[in-house]
Amino acid sequence: KAKSEGKNKFVMFTQEMNDKLLNRIRIEHSIRIGLERREFSVFYQPKINLKNEQPTSFEALIRWKRNGQTLGPEKFIPIAEEAGLIDDMSLYVLDEVCLFLCRLQENAISTLPISINMSPRTFNNPDIVTTIDNILAIHAVDHRLIEFEITETTAMKDVRHTLSTMQDFRQRGIRFSIDDFGTGYSSLSYLSEMPVSTLKIDKRFIAADNANSRSIVSIITAMSKQMQLKVVAEGVETRDQLQWLRDLDCDEVQGFYFCRPMPDLATESYLQTGSGSSPAEGRSAQV
Ligand code: C2E
Ligand code: MG
Ligand code: MG
Ligand code: MG
Repeated sequence: KAKSEGKNKFVMFTQEMNDKLLNRIRIEHSIRIGLERREFSVFYQPKINLKNEQPTSFEALIRWKRNGQTLGPEKFIPIAEEAGLIDDMSLYVLDEVCLFLCRLQENAISTLPISINMSPRTFNNPDIVTTIDNILAIHAVDHRLIEFEITETTAMKDVRHTLSTMQDFRQRGIRFSIDDFGTGYSSLSYLSEMPVSTLKIDKRFIAADNANSRSIVSIITAMSKQMQLKVVAEGVETRDQLQWLRDLDCDEVQGFYFCRPMPDLATESYLQTGSGSSPAEGRSAQV
């Protein structure tokens, strides 16, 4: 098609592709180096129980400190996935989380679990259960302190394989949440067979904050109760959102209203003082 539009266009098109490709290769290379140099860090955001407003667990969210700025995962996870670097990245996060869990335990700060976002590729790796067993064994971390968040797409991709992997993990004590629930295509019949503990309602339904989105949240919450699953709302930013989620009897919330994702040290003081980062501090710490 480009060729039929004339020679110059064709040249420009390939030049642009070439630039994009080079840029990709550069980023891939710096991800690889960044993992070796441990330039990535993990931030933590609490999930808050709505009954007592206390944290029940934290979600691990990866960040990249690069040339003085902090990059969020949407800037590099897709590239890491395409470049086959996501397994290394996932294990890096697990390793960091284990180190942090050990520190919290040794200093008697907390024994709350931490959830990790699992990329479909890593989750479908045939050696995943053994690999994760080994990492937990090295750090002497109890499986019950780890949760995995997988999306509907990951869960429904290869149902038989997913089910058996989930069962292997669940037998060891690892729990599962379905992340971004309501945005994918879940078979409710398969979902009910899976050892899932929690549904996390996608933040877009909280952000929309209209009659439609509220009825979707209401339906997901009611369904969770029926299926005896815990239900967590993501992306809660306002008091008003909190109020209608309370009215719907949502179990837990996560969002800027209570606390932004924080670096490990800030998470420790949050746990010790029981207060989150102030909005100003949080805004600069969060990316
Ligand atoms: P997610 O798992 O659905 O995480 C929730 C995202 O919402 C996080 O963005 C979090 O910082 C953000 N968030 C939390 N509270 C609020 C709020 O009140 N308002 C708004 N607008 N946003 C809020 P983040 O950290 O940029 O992560 C984006 C996505 O990247 C995650 O979505 C997850 O899918 C992926 N991700 C993050 N860390 C990892 C990781 O270690 N491994 C993998 N494979 N994926 C990761
Ligand atoms: Mg998540
Ligand atoms: Mg989510
Ligand atoms: Mg998301």
